[in-house]
This record gives sequence, C-alpha cells and structure tokens, in this order.
Amino acid sequence: MADKCEIVDSCPFFEIFGTAKSRLKKEYVEKICNDKSKCKRIGYVNVNEKKPPDNMSPTGRLF
Ligand code: SF4
Repeated sequence: MADKCEIVDSCPFFEIFGTAKSRLKKEYVEKICNDKSKCKRIGYVNVNEKKPPDNMSPTGRLF
C-alpha cells in the first residue's frame, strides 16, 4: 500500500517551487508524494546520508 509523505507542507523543494495550489505541486504530490517510496529526495537521503539540494525535485531533476 502506498505510504504518503508526511512533510508535504514543509518540504524544502515545495517551499521554493510550489505554492500550496500550484499545478506543479499538485502533480508531484499525486504522482510521487502520495507514495513516498517513489521520491528521489528521500532516496537521496538514504543513499548519501545527507539532505538533497533544496532544488532537487521529487523525480531527481535539479531545477
Ligand atoms: S518531494 Fe519527497 S520529501 Fe518532499 S514532500 Fe514529496 S515525497 Fe516528501
């Protein structure tokens, strides 16, 4: 079962690139944050043991 991310409202990426109602945020939340196992930001933390850059998107793209 998909595990929803609990930090959507405080995620550093969305603080920079997604206002609460923006289409960008809505699409990422639907496609990735509602199943956080898909998030490259979380994957980055697990592999590198440090925070990803704030401008790294949930798909791993640097904005
Ligand atoms: S981008 Fe990743 S870390 Fe940020 S809210 Fe979505 S699932 Fe969570």
